[in-house]
Amino acid sequence: MIEAAIEYQKPVRIGVNWGSLDGDLLTRLMDENALQAEPKDARDVTMEAMVQSALLSAEAAERHGLRHDQIILSAKVSTVQDLIDVNRSLAARCDYPLHLGLTEAGLGAKGIVATSAALSILLQEGIGDTIRASLTPMPNGDRTEEVMVCQQVLQSLGLRSFTPQVAACPGCGRTTSTFFQEMADDIQRYLREQMPVWREQYKGVEELKVAVMGCVVNGPGESKHADIGISLPGTFEEPKAPIYMDGKLLRTLKGDGIVPEFIDILNDYVARRYGVKTEEPVAAE
Ligand code: SF4
Repeated sequence: MIEAAIEYQKPVRIGVNWGSLDGDLLTRLMDENALQAEPKDARDVTMEAMVQSALLSAEAAERHGLRHDQIILSAKVSTVQDLIDVNRSLAARCDYPLHLGLTEAGLGAKGIVATSAALSILLQEGIGDTIRASLTPMPNGDRTEEVMVCQQVLQSLGLRSFTPQVAACPGCGRTTSTFFQEMADDIQRYLREQMPVWREQYKGVEELKVAVMGCVVNGPGESKHADIGISLPGTFEEPKAPIYMDGKLLRTLKGDGIVPEFIDILNDYVARRYGVKTEEPVAAE
């Protein structure tokens, strides 16, 4: 791999995995630690071995001809605190780009939350240049979830936008219907589906903010903060749904066609706000 990278000048990721850490290095550091007046915890020595192993491997790669700026370091550990500690230490001791990812993060909410927690803390500190998620999919599950989690981490931190965001309320005693949840899900899916085309057509559309709220008592406040928002009728409220655009009441929807009507309004808004503005032709005298 190194020969090919040298030849083609490609970046090379050098990974150190805590599960297959250099045994000689770890034993030496453990022995040295045991001789100290106040020995460190075995976990701290293991993290130090990870860091040293990564740095020694990078040095060896450079001796074999890789350029310094071709190298990316990746320390693979499976707990949040280990990932944070080992990458903080690497960031303090070298200037190689760091690839962040919690390995074997696990299933479902546990894997997503642990990955997001670890990545967010490091990225917020300015540590990390590329990221990954390592989630266990459900049988026949969707592998693209790992990409969506990484995109959402970056977008939630305000580092990079990928797709318009839908703010939706959690629901409470003011609404007993599931309509607002279904609509929020429909709108989020619709926006994702449009992105392959919109990304080309509408520059900046990934920054769009949409709100779908569950009642007309508290919903309008959040709707006004979004670029475009709708407040659906809550329990015992009149069956009407005010729409807010750029903070102002635009109109009120009623009846069974609220979702398609809202999507039409959304499409118009996107085309007007993000579409290419062509100069009006100057009329001939
Ligand atoms: S917007 Fe209305 S329904 Fe939604 S959480 Fe707030 S009060 Fe409850």
